[in-house]
Amino acid sequence: MTLQKRQGQRFLPYGANYLNWSDMHELQQVIEQSVLFRYQTESESMASRLERTVGERLGAEHVLAVHNCTEALRLALVSTRPAVGDVVYIPAVTFVAVAGAVLSTGLIPVPVDVDETLALDTSLLPADARRVIVAHMEGAVAPLPATVPFVIEDAAQALGARFPDGRHVGTRGYAGAFSFHHNKVLTSGEGGLLVTNDRAAWEEMRCYHDHGSARKPGRYPTWNEDAYYGENLVTSEEVAAIQLQQFRHLDEVLAGLERHYRIASQELPDRSDIALVPRSPGDVKISLRLRLANRELRDTAVERLTAQGIANWTLGKYFLPEHPVLAGRRSLYADGFPWNLAGAVPRALTRDGFARTRSLLDRTLCVPLSPELSEQQQATAAKLLRRTLETM
Ligand SMILES: *Cc1c(COP(=O)(O)O)cnc(C)c1O
Repeated sequence: MTLQKRQGQRFLPYGANYLNWSDMHELQQVIEQSVLFRYQTESESMASRLERTVGERLGAEHVLAVHNCTEALRLALVSTRPAVGDVVYIPAVTFVAVAGAVLSTGLIPVPVDVDETLALDTSLLPADARRVIVAHMEGAVAPLPATVPFVIEDAAQALGARFPDGRHVGTRGYAGAFSFHHNKVLTSGEGGLLVTNDRAAWEEMRCYHDHGSARKPGRYPTWNEDAYYGENLVTSEEVAAIQLQQFRHLDEVLAGLERHYRIASQELPDRSDIALVPRSPGDVKISLRLRLANRELRDTAVERLTAQGIANWTLGKYFLPEHPVLAGRRSLYADGFPWNLAGAVPRALTRDGFARTRSLLDRTLCVPLSPELSEQQQATAAKLLRRTLETM
C-alpha cells in the first residue's frame, strides 16, 4: 500500500501502518500448522511465545494474553478477591472502559480528580483506599500512589512508556493492562495483555481466564480441589501471531513518534496563547498536547486544523463524571446492580467540583504524531501545523 493511501487513514495510526503480507511470518506459521487454539499442543504456542516476548521486553515476570484491555482490567480486579460493592478509585479523565470494568465486576467506581497533566491526583485518595486504577493516558506516564495495596495500571494507551526509574509502565503496580485495539500503539484489531510480578495472582488469573481450570497445554483441563468458577478469556493463535509481528516493530514505532514529537514541538508558533503541555522523557509521544488560552481559541484551532486535513482530537469525551453511566448510575440489571450497593459511597473525589479539570479539558487539543513518516515528511507536516496555528 502506498504511503499516500495510508495518509488518508491518519485517524487510525501506529501499528496498523506496519501490517504487510511480506512481514507476517508468525501468522504464516500458525496457518501452516493449522492450530488456532493455544492449548492444542504441548509445544510452545504462539500465545505463550507472545507472553514470553512481552515479559522480556517490558521486564514483567508474568504475562497473560486476553481478548482486550477491558477484560484484562476486570481480570486484575477479580484476582484481588473483592467483595461486591467494594470501591475502586479511578481517574476522572479516562476511557469509559475503566468504569465498565469496575462495574461489570460488581464494584463501585469513584472518579478521582486529575492534576495539571490530567493524571489521577493521588493526593486525593483516602488513607484506607484498597483498590485504584491509574491510567497512563495518551502515552503520558502517571504517578502511582505509594500505599494502596492494589494499584492496577491501565497502560492501554502507553505501551513502551517508562517511569523515570526506567521501568515500563504496567510493571510497577499490582498488575498492568495493555490494549491492542485498532487505535493503540500496536494493534491486532482487538487484543489485550495483563502483566503482573505476583506469581500467585498470575496463577489465579490464568485459571479464571480458562473456566477456572489449570489447563496443561495439549491435555484436557483438570480442576483443582479449590477450583472456583471462571470465564473464557483465552486468546487465539492467529491473534497472538499478529501481536508478535506488531511487537517486532515497537521500537521503530516509538522512535518514529519520538522524532516527530521533537520536530513538531520545535516548529510550534511563538504565541503566548498556545502552550505545549510538557511531556516527560519516558512518555510514548503519541500526540502533541496543546493548551490554549480559552475554549473559543481551542474550538477555532479544531476548525482550522480539520479544514487543513490535520488529524486532531479533544479530551472532553474522557470526562467520566459527566458520562451518562456514571452521572445517571445506569445499569441493565433491574435492581440497578451494582450501583444499588453504593450506599453512602461518595460520587467522586474532587477539590473544586471539577471546575479546574473542566477548564483544562476545554482548552486542550491533541494532534497525533505519525511514526511511519520519514523525517522529511514529518518536517513538512510540522510546518503545515505551524502555519495553520499562525492563521488564528
Ligand atoms: C482503549 C482503552 C481501554 C480499553 O481497551 P480495549 O482493548 O478496547 O478493551 C481502556 N482504557 C483506556 C485508557 C483505553 O484507551
